[in-house]
Amino acid sequence: MSVAKLVEDVLAAALCTGCGACGLVCPHNLILFDEDTIQPKLDFDAAICADCDHCHGVCPGLDPETDASEMHIYGRHRAAEERWLGIFTAFFGAQSCSEEIRWASSSGGAVTTLLLASRTRLSVRHTLTMGRNATEGWRASPVVSDSKDVIIANAQSTYQLAPYLNALRVTYDQSPDENVAVVGLACHVQALRKLQRQDTEIGRWAKERVVFMVETACSSNTLPAGTSAIISDILGKDPTRTVNVKYREGLYPGKFQATDVNQDKCAVEFWQILNKLKENKTHRCLSCGDWMSGLADVSVCDGDPNIFDASLNGGQAISKHARVLVRTPTGAEIVEYAAEAGLLDRWGIDLVGFNLGLERKKNRRRHYEQTTLPIPYGPGAGETYERSELRTDEELINPARYRSSKS
Ligand SMILES: Cc1cc2nc3c(=O)[nH]c(=O)nc-3n(C[C@H](O)[C@H](O)[C@H](O)COP(=O)(O)OP(=O)(O)OC[C@H]3O[C@@H](n4cnc5c(N)ncnc54)[C@H](O)[C@@H]3O)c2cc1C
Repeated sequence: MSVAKLVEDVLAAALCTGCGACGLVCPHNLILFDEDTIQPKLDFDAAICADCDHCHGVCPGLDPETDASEMHIYGRHRAAEERWLGIFTAFFGAQSCSEEIRWASSSGGAVTTLLLASRTRLSVRHTLTMGRNATEGWRASPVVSDSKDVIIANAQSTYQLAPYLNALRVTYDQSPDENVAVVGLACHVQALRKLQRQDTEIGRWAKERVVFMVETACSSNTLPAGTSAIISDILGKDPTRTVNVKYREGLYPGKFQATDVNQDKCAVEFWQILNKLKENKTHRCLSCGDWMSGLADVSVCDGDPNIFDASLNGGQAISKHARVLVRTPTGAEIVEYAAEAGLLDRWGIDLVGFNLGLERKKNRRRHYEQTTLPIPYGPGAGETYERSELRTDEELINPARYRSSKS
């Protein structure tokens, strides 16, 4: 019984990513989510599940099935030297040619630009992005929309977990013949790729209709409590009177900004929120072995190597931009289209180099591999670390260290 296996393999082992895929695929539409823990609420009679394996089969919590998805997409597994970035065919620095999108974005708006390009090039009608809850505006909430304005408004990184893929259920139920584009984190893409390999009605729908996937790198995500603590403890404001939050507002690398019911805005520098985020992580996010899934059509990360340093020491001089990895023919088609249509500016880069988020990811993963705690499977290539380059997490993000090194 799928739900029992989901509990045993994933929930009991604290390996739920909160990706929402189980809610998307449940044939009985039974799975709802706790808004604070982002875990599925399984308070229904499990007898109804009979022999169904949908929810367990799609879950990336314990086993993202990277190897099987790579065989499906690329016809091969990644090699050891591809451990952390996965398989790709091209890479470059990029930013949106639109000032509006650059301003709205985290790192120059390559993701938003490619999502918009897929609407024209691949006849995408529905785009899944991360927005805000309609009644509690400080909470993250997925949005499926056909509106360009909404896609641009939902640009920027949201450092808050929310059940995500389940939002596609409405599209599957009501518009199954229309194309879908998705932006997500590694766990979201892993779940969708698992689903696309399944010979079920919803698996076939995902294979045929989810025509473009772009992912952003993810060092780790944070429970909603992290955001409410920033609003109450750092900004001194009331989360219940907050109608919107942005995590990377304004000039690079951006500020955390809360807007209240009177439309008054209050902001702090990005580096000031990091400890509250750090205090509200899940075991699954901290032990995750994937900075990128390597399975999206295109993957995007910050172009600046150390966002924390930039925030503390003045990143405004840096123009927002990203590093883009192209993985599939579909990804290449969208990128070429966006570049030729004058939507995306791209330039050559040297891919070798430091990324604070990736280094933190490697540090944490190495730590969890040395414990006896259950951790999610990584890609089959094996864990490789450039050990001489690694530093402790505390050393990497300690504000005092950066302040004293500046003076
Ligand atoms: C939790 C998290 C951790 C990250 N860690 C790293 C890191 O370690 N190193 C690094 O280089 N980059 C990291 N990033 C990615 C980086 O912050 C930028 O998002 C990325 O460079 C893309 O920038 P952009 O301007 O092209 O994207 P934009 O044009 O600003 O678009 C970003 C898109 O991502 C979607 N999105 C935002 N948050 C989420 C979410 N939680 N779940 C699903 N979709 C979401 C938005 O709706 C939007 O469509 C992280 C992002 C997140 C959300």
